[in-house]
Amino acid sequence: MVIKCTANCGKNAALKRPKTGDALCKECFFWAFETEIHETITSGNLFSPGNKVAIGASGGKDSTVLAYVLKVLNERYNYGIELILLSIDEGITGYRDDSLDTVKQNKIDYNMPLTILSYKELYGWTMDEIVAQIGRKNNCTFCGVFRRQALDRGAAQLKVDCIATGHNADDIAETVLMNVLRGDLARLRRCTAVITSGEGTIPRVKPLKYTYEKEIVMYAHFRKLVYFSTECVFAPNAYRGHARTLLKDLEKVRPSVIMDIIHSGETLQISKTAKMPQVGVCKSCNFVSSQEICKACFLLQGLNRGLPKLGIGKTSKSKKMLAEQEAKDKLLLNDSDKSCNNCTCNKSNKEINKSNISDQNSLKSLSILKDVDLF
Ligand code: SF4
Ligand code: ZN
Repeated sequence: MVIKCTANCGKNAALKRPKTGDALCKECFFWAFETEIHETITSGNLFSPGNKVAIGASGGKDSTVLAYVLKVLNERYNYGIELILLSIDEGITGYRDDSLDTVKQNKIDYNMPLTILSYKELYGWTMDEIVAQIGRKNNCTFCGVFRRQALDRGAAQLKVDCIATGHNADDIAETVLMNVLRGDLARLRRCTAVITSGEGTIPRVKPLKYTYEKEIVMYAHFRKLVYFSTECVFAPNAYRGHARTLLKDLEKVRPSVIMDIIHSGETLQISKTAKMPQVGVCKSCNFVSSQEICKACFLLQGLNRGLPKLGIGKTSKSKKMLAEQEAKDKLLLNDSDKSCNNCTCNKSNKEINKSNISDQNSLKSLSILKDVDLF
């Protein structure tokens, strides 16, 4: 049976919109999809004329569609913004190296400059190396914390006015669910914001905030956009996976659940008496942090000191781990003038320990971390 496009254009419908249930032809779907994003941009005042905007580009469907649609809308509505692609190379063989090829193709197709920053150059570690140290359980904690800061660093280098990210409506609904389940009030309060900014930070904007993931896939398919769709080779974040499964199950019986959850997050009033973290600057790297030492520096110090679990899990556990390591370091230093009794090398412990300590960068780490109230 032929179904006519409900936008009254006279053409046959090509699809049923997951978000509204409307039967539309391809052109009317494109128009509706792009217009909704334009409305999110204008109602949220995401951009001003003359703004330099970095698009966080991973080569995946969301950021590819974001780059394409921002280009279209910038030309159609004369936003007067300059668009730049900013990619982070986490150093994941078989995943990011391939997806970055897609971003390089986007650069050519959309005629936008591209900057790629790697974890290796920023932190001295690739994700492959980190996973070799910590295993596959907490890899996404490292990756997520490092990526967030890497984007900020890239944006600061490029002197952009804001970073546009490809977070879609499903991502935001999942994040609301996760924050409710974790009781994380600080994140719950800000996770639905279309612009997130704070003192000393470059604002992040989410033009796809109300765009359903299924429609992004449809749009990319019908527009024949080139994107990378393989999952990361490391285990995906398990907790988000549960929230995603729950959301998909709910969506089957009530398609509006995604918008409903976002709306709930937006209108939620959090008690004024709830304790919220104070935002300041990391003593070590000067990037924004709610702790004296930011999570990225903390995780990095753990890696460099051979304590990769430092910064993961409870504060008390981290404090205990750090205290044990400090005690060991002190013992090594006090012992340093005595000679080595383990073999016949005749070297003093000082000589032997010197190389161990510099390998782990321990003293440097110790001076950064010693007077810090750990979280
Ligand atoms: Fe990084 Fe985890 Fe995402 Fe892989 S799944 S890119 S390790 S956050
Ligand atoms: Zn820091």
